[in-house]
Formats: sequence, structure tokens, C-alpha cells
Amino acid sequence: MAATLITNVAIFDGTGAAPFPGEVLVEGNRVAAVAKGGERIAADGATVVDGGGATLTPGLIEAHAHLGFGSSVGRVLRGRGQTPEQMLLITAHTAKVMLDYGFTGAYSAGSHSAPAETALRDDIDAGWLPGPRLRACSFEREASAIAEGSRRTYTGFEHRPPDVEGVRAFVKEMAEIGVDSVKFVVTGDNSIAPNTSHLVLYHDVELRAAERAADETGVWLNAHAHSADAIKMVLRNNFRVIYHCTRPDDEAIDMLEARKGDVFVAPTVGLNWTNIYDDPNYAKRDDGAALREQIEKLEHLSELMPKLHRRGIRLLPGGDYGFPTNPIGKNAHDLELFVTLFGFTPAEALTAATKLGGEIMGMAGELGLIKPGYLADLLLVDGDPLRDITLFQDPDNLLMIMKDGKYHQPPRPRPRPRDPLNGVAQRRLKEHAE
Ligand SMILES: [Zn+2]
Repeated sequence: MAATLITNVAIFDGTGAAPFPGEVLVEGNRVAAVAKGGERIAADGATVVDGGGATLTPGLIEAHAHLGFGSSVGRVLRGRGQTPEQMLLITAHTAKVMLDYGFTGAYSAGSHSAPAETALRDDIDAGWLPGPRLRACSFEREASAIAEGSRRTYTGFEHRPPDVEGVRAFVKEMAEIGVDSVKFVVTGDNSIAPNTSHLVLYHDVELRAAERAADETGVWLNAHAHSADAIKMVLRNNFRVIYHCTRPDDEAIDMLEARKGDVFVAPTVGLNWTNIYDDPNYAKRDDGAALREQIEKLEHLSELMPKLHRRGIRLLPGGDYGFPTNPIGKNAHDLELFVTLFGFTPAEALTAATKLGGEIMGMAGELGLIKPGYLADLLLVDGDPLRDITLFQDPDNLLMIMKDGKYHQPPRPRPRPRDPLNGVAQRRLKEHAE
């Protein structure tokens, strides 16, 4: 079995503990041994990689991936006129970009085509295409949507009869295609149709049918849910992942806490931030009302999420990356926002993207930590990410990317010794030079 001994590194093992100097032995696709401090691993015949004092971390995991949104760093997708064949190739490319940026795992929050996404997942797993480990998702099922002129808006579930059979058939069909999870858009969304985030789009009886069908077929349920009523409804019906989770009331927060062992929340702050700071066109929408709404929401999330964090609810980075203004590849920005807006320590943000990432992937016990027996998804980072969480945003700082024991980016020497604090400064200087 091929063995690699990575020496002379500071190891952030994903548990949240402080990095420690040590070495790691990889055998085949798993971590075989971890040594601390002065301990040495006897590994005759192993290829030795000198980490040069850089930091070894588990690979990052994105909790709210949309490979099919299509825009990635260096390749912005304009318009919606692509054929399914083009979309498949674009999606395969965005998967590669995620891995280029250190994301070795991605939990999909909705695909443009379930057959395309499951095929991509399987080709990545088989080693034919580069990309993160992928949990494939259905397309995002809406309900109660209506056309209003050229725009789409929502009416709320009260304006239509329940369609229990339709919901059930959808879950079964998606499970048959082989998805890992099925996504329901359970509330409207102010950024799609003004003043609709509070509207609940499904009847309770429909989501109960979804739960039963998911249980029978072995798929997980994800919800797009902003309002307290929707959050409570999906919690009652055993949804596993809640995206956005913007306005839980006290009762909903208590319910989240009671279910914290089996529910994941991805607040999706990246897109919110981008709409405000990086998208010049956003300010023009609806005479500025859309922008004001985004600012209010960001302020609200900055108060709410630290509260949920203190209650022990699992919050994961993942921010709807894939639009022209927040292309795939920028995903690690969410880690920075967890620190600057939600009061996470860098170690907590990194733990959320690694250990909790392994949990949302359904791979707790073998993914997300650097520990004997765990899958060898590893990054060698030039600097100390606990002093500068932005280091992950620049792939030049990733000296090695290993997934499943194989190199995506083979080890390269540290370019030059430098201050571990200067990740942001370096990025800004580089942008300035371009
Ligand atoms: Zn999404």
C-alpha cells in the first residue's frame, strides 16, 4: 500500500483543539497514524513530505453547494440559455474549481438536474473527474408559485389544496434517480419575490408525506426556510438540514436546540453579504428596497446566529456560491463571515467546515478530522489559519490538496517565509497589482 509521511507540520485536527506540531502517516486513502510533538512514526518505505512548518488541516466541506448555479472563479455564467449538455459540463467544471480551492466535500442544496448530479457524484467517486465528495440533491421543489407579469411570486399554501400524492411521488422519483437528499423550498424568498420570505408554501400534511416517503426510500430532507412557522413545520417533519433559518421565534429556537443532535443549519450568509457589498446591480432593484432588506437581514443574522451557536445548534458555512458576484471558489469567505459577523473563533469556524462537515455528509467517524482511521482529505496551508481565517480564500496558500489519499495539488514548497498574519494583506496587494 502506498504510504506518505507528512512531517514538520502544525496539525489542526478538526476537533477545535489548538494546532500541535507533529506528523501524519497516510496509508492508502486513510490516515494511519498521527504523532504529536517529539514522537516519531516509524514508516519505512513511506514517501516523506516535509511540510516546512505549514499547517495541516482536514479538507473543507461546503454545506450549501449548488454546482449547477454555474459561475466559478474565472468563468462567470451570464444568462440562463444553456442546454442541459452545456450545464452538465459547466457543473463538472465547477466541481473541479471547488477542489482547487480546498473543498474536498460538498453537500448539495439543490441541483439543476438530479440525474446529472448523481452521475457527476459517481464519476468523481470513481476517480474519473476531479471534484469534492458530493452528496447529490434533487432539484429544489417549489409550491404555491405563481407568475406575476414576467416575475415569479408566491401565494402561500392556503391558496391551494394539498397535493400529498405529488409530494410523495417527487420524493420517490428522486430517490429512484439516486439522490442523497431531497430539497423543498418551504418559504418564499424576498430576494426572488419581494415580501415573500414569511410565506409558507407547503401544507403540513404534504411535508408529513415527504417525511414518510423519505423514510421509506432512505433519502434525507433539506428545507429552504426563512419564517418561524416554516422552521417549526420542517422540524416537526424530521427535516435534516435547514437552509437560511432566518426568523426562528423562541419556540422554534427551543425546538432547534432539542433536535441539535440530528439537525444542521446553514445560514447562507455569503450571498447575503455579496448582495450588499459586491453586487453593484443589487442596489438598483425595487428602488433600493431589496438592498435595505438585505442589510436588515444581515444585521438580524449577526444577532441571531451567535445565539443559536451558544445553544449548541450546529451551524455550518455554506453561502449559495455560484452566482456571477459570488462564484464557486469563493466559498471559504463564509468562514471569515462566521468569525467577523457571528462571533465564532477561527477554530470554531474551521471546525464547522471540517468536523461538522463530515457529520452533514453522513460520514461522522471517518470524515472531517485528522485522526487514525479517517479518510485522508488534507490541506497543507501556508500560514496559521487560526490567526488568519482568510488564508483559505487564496489557493496560492494551499501548498497541498489531498483527497482520498491522492494528490489533487501535490506538495510544493512554501514560496518564502512570511508573517502568518498577512493573508488578507497579501490578497489585497495581489488584487491591486492585477
Ligand atoms: Zn441555496
